[in-house]
Amino acid sequence: MTPNEKTAADTPLLECRSIERRFGGLVAVTGIDMDIMPGEIFGLVGPNGSGKTTLTNAISGFYPPTKGAIKLAGRDITGMAPHKVAALGVARTFQNLALFNGMSVLDNILLGRHIHMRPGVLRTALYWWLARPEEIANREVVEEVIEFMQLESIRHELVDGIPMGLKKRVELARALVAEPRLLILDEPMAGMNQEEKEYMARFVLDARDERGVTVLLIEHHMDVITGICDRMLALNYGEMIASGAPKEVVKDPRVIEAYIGGARGTG
Ligand code: ADP
Ligand code: MG
Repeated sequence: MTPNEKTAADTPLLECRSIERRFGGLVAVTGIDMDIMPGEIFGLVGPNGSGKTTLTNAISGFYPPTKGAIKLAGRDITGMAPHKVAALGVARTFQNLALFNGMSVLDNILLGRHIHMRPGVLRTALYWWLARPEEIANREVVEEVIEFMQLESIRHELVDGIPMGLKKRVELARALVAEPRLLILDEPMAGMNQEEKEYMARFVLDARDERGVTVLLIEHHMDVITGICDRMLALNYGEMIASGAPKEVVKDPRVIEAYIGGARGTG
């Protein structure tokens, strides 16, 4: 299977069955069932510590589930190493940014292309590698994404000095150049003001509509994402408390209780 291979519209792109992840005695998530259909923007919400990041780590292979099974387009990926999951078309951004300080915006974005590079390329200078005529296709994807994410004017700036909102955009660009089938965004709007959040929401919608990616969107705050998700799953203390259409999930008494009762931090 390659990242660009098509899946039948009625086969979930991602299937999670009875997922559990323990850390020693702590049950971080348990009994999680989640299906994401191709082309969906699927929201994962819940208070801090409810297990959202743990579930994404189980999918992407960083912390494999201690129980349960995960399939990508019908293929079992349970416990697969992160680089293999990435090679099958899963890209992610991190709740705490994982950009490389001391490198430019462009170089950070180029790194997201590594799954399409031949071995050894990372040891050579990325920019010169991309200047080779046979790498035109790779270069075109990178340029197209820089334009799509409106990062042209800061492409040569070091990521260290740019504002948080732009850093989040660079991270999204780095995930998109991998041309993923499934894009996992872990709190891409954290720390943003309302206007920046709406801007980011627009990029996520456009990524789905124009670039055909399926999105798993994690958020702590529900305001902006309920407007762009097709379906949502809410967690609390590692368990599923509600799922379905966003307008139903936000009204669910267990969700309201989790958020009101659980003012457990802000981000
Ligand atoms: P969320 O992303 O919803 O805020 P997390 O998935 O980060 O929640 O955390 C869920 C629970 O699992 C928390 O109690 C957290 O402390 C714990 N946890 C997460 N990752 C680890 C880890 N690597 N080691 C130990 N405990 C962890
Ligand atoms: Mg988290």
